[in-house]
Amino acid sequence: APLASPPSVKTTCPYCGVGCGVKATPDGLGGALVEGDAAHPANLGRLCSKGAALGETVGLDTRLLHPLVRGTDGALARASWDTALDRIADGLKTVRDAHGPGAIAFYLSGQLLTEDYYAANKLAKGFLGTAHVDTNSRLCMSSSVAGHKRGFGSDTVPGSYEDLEAADLIVLVGSNTAWCHPVLFRRMEAARKARGTKFVVIDPRRTETAAEADLHLPLAHGADALLFSGLLAHLAQSPAFDADYVRDHTTGFDAALAHARAMAPDAEATARACGLAVEDVARFFALFTDTARTVTCYSQGVNQSVAGTDKVNAILNCHFATGRMGREGMGPFSLTGQPNAMGGREVGGLANQLAAHMGFSPEEVDRVRRFWDAPHMATREGHKAVDLFAAIGRGEIKALWVMGTNPAVSLPEADGVRAALKGLDLFVLSENVVHNDTAACHPHVMLPAAAWGEKDGTVTNSERRISRQRPFLALPGAVKPNWWALAQVASRLGFGAAFAWRGPADIFREHAALSGFENAGSRDFDISAFADLSDTAYQDFTPVQWPAPRGRPQGTPRLFADGGYFTADRRARFVSPAPVAAARASEAYPFLLNTGRIRDQWHTMTRTGLSPRLGSHILAPFVAVHPDDAAPLGLADGGLARVSSAHGAAVLEVKIDAGQKRGTLFAPIHWSGATSSHGRVGPLVHAVTDPFSGQPDSKATPATLAPF
Ligand code: SF4
Repeated sequence: APLASPPSVKTTCPYCGVGCGVKATPDGLGGALVEGDAAHPANLGRLCSKGAALGETVGLDTRLLHPLVRGTDGALARASWDTALDRIADGLKTVRDAHGPGAIAFYLSGQLLTEDYYAANKLAKGFLGTAHVDTNSRLCMSSSVAGHKRGFGSDTVPGSYEDLEAADLIVLVGSNTAWCHPVLFRRMEAARKARGTKFVVIDPRRTETAAEADLHLPLAHGADALLFSGLLAHLAQSPAFDADYVRDHTTGFDAALAHARAMAPDAEATARACGLAVEDVARFFALFTDTARTVTCYSQGVNQSVAGTDKVNAILNCHFATGRMGREGMGPFSLTGQPNAMGGREVGGLANQLAAHMGFSPEEVDRVRRFWDAPHMATREGHKAVDLFAAIGRGEIKALWVMGTNPAVSLPEADGVRAALKGLDLFVLSENVVHNDTAACHPHVMLPAAAWGEKDGTVTNSERRISRQRPFLALPGAVKPNWWALAQVASRLGFGAAFAWRGPADIFREHAALSGFENAGSRDFDISAFADLSDTAYQDFTPVQWPAPRGRPQGTPRLFADGGYFTADRRARFVSPAPVAAARASEAYPFLLNTGRIRDQWHTMTRTGLSPRLGSHILAPFVAVHPDDAAPLGLADGGLARVSSAHGAAVLEVKIDAGQKRGTLFAPIHWSGATSSHGRVGPLVHAVTDPFSGQPDSKATPATLAPF
């Protein structure tokens, strides 16, 4: 008889915020065949190169399979879970008793499942009493979060991916979508083919995305808010201005318009301030004015900036002024970097948030305290990522639990982060892999965490769509889910009853119930329709966009078409951007270094680095240099150059690139000490942050360049 085919399992890609559905069919040998899930609304069967290569990355060669505990000789040695968990619980108690709960911190990741994130936040903010819980989403999305909260009163993305296919104009700001959100870009290209959608790309670099644009605006670094202020001034006197929407659903328009007119009164002044050709700016303004169905997408070029929050609000202002909000083919659209940056925020993954998008007002603290019956509720915001590691460096934070992220590579001024990690009294690292730069910083305990293919829980993508990550491989060795390790530590600290979950479905139900607790439509995040979900329904959960309050389990594709913002008066807020205070090059550091992603690698390559196919796209860490900047320095394509900033240096392969703006450099973020002895760029990046979001400016570090 023919052999029965192994069943395939529907899950979600673990890389970018597009959140593509994947079907994985285990091969019975520890591997799996991976293909796109045609039924998943995010990708409708498509996968990019990274998603298509997932099957090549599920081996165990580099995996951490057992707990490791540092002995008195300073060496990590294999230990039982009991030994490791006792060590963590004892260490947390010792630090809390000696220094108070504010000496304990957690650093989480947009790679974690929502259930893991929920458990960490509950333990820290409700039971240990520390709000020093931040995440690598701070490096990714927090300026959009802060901008949305100022404009909408909530951390909400108003639209859906379908709007990209229904738009006649897509404006991409600070986003190399073709490389960083490839499946979405393919959906945009399909729309262009079907309905002639125009693309405007606003980016100092001529990226692969810009090369496809109908209009590319290579604006000066940091000038985005100026450009959109000029657009607001233009729209206000154009037929596109929607006086009814502005009157009925917004406040602050007059002040914002006066401010915009002072900053950038017309296309000519805007072009001058942004370093653009007047005719290009005029064409952009005309396209935006004439095209009702306009979606403006923004990503890290907007977020990773000292003015990231202001840039977001300058964009939102133009959509408020035209009433192009939450309607088919219209709206602002933040493209999330990571697979679960949004899910993490839903459960309070940022130091300035509590669970279910609540903040630290006395009412919200009290509400969460009552829901959790929490004995030690944090009452104030904690340190955001950059400040958190600075506090570790100053010795104020003594105990840190890092989960699923590699801050010794990815944070700015990463050498300082390395040094800070080595000085902790208790450093716990939950990881998939044995070796990476953070694991090299002397953790006291390493916990083997479940990896993609083994994880069981939920994630939320850029369009607010909650999807399941389902396991299709058995947990190898002594590997366990992160939520389980957190619950075990909670139990050792005497909080077992509040963490007595049998599995991720219990956590999801609790999370859903909290989102609806005393929430009669006053908060955006509400998935209380799932508070009583059965285990079977959780297992079979089909992707849905929140809010999904009780009685609306089908979710909500769009918000704000008829106002209903989450401010006290239910009106949106126009917010005026401050004058740009962007980094400037100097005689000592004549270049601005921009860092970002390449097409076929993800973060610090611990997974994508396992695929030879992905590795063959770009072999080595590089720096892109304009030919006119390279020539006087005697730099040739393929040669080596030393890039230095006030904080560090890297040796990178030179790529001569005419698409690079003069005076700027671009280098990818992926290489680490574990993958290249000289290609880490994290140490160079300045730890300068946006004043509202705390997001580091990773796009403009003053730097020098010299042949190596
Ligand atoms: Fe994965 Fe993003 Fe590629 Fe989709 S577009 S397959 S989510 S990396």
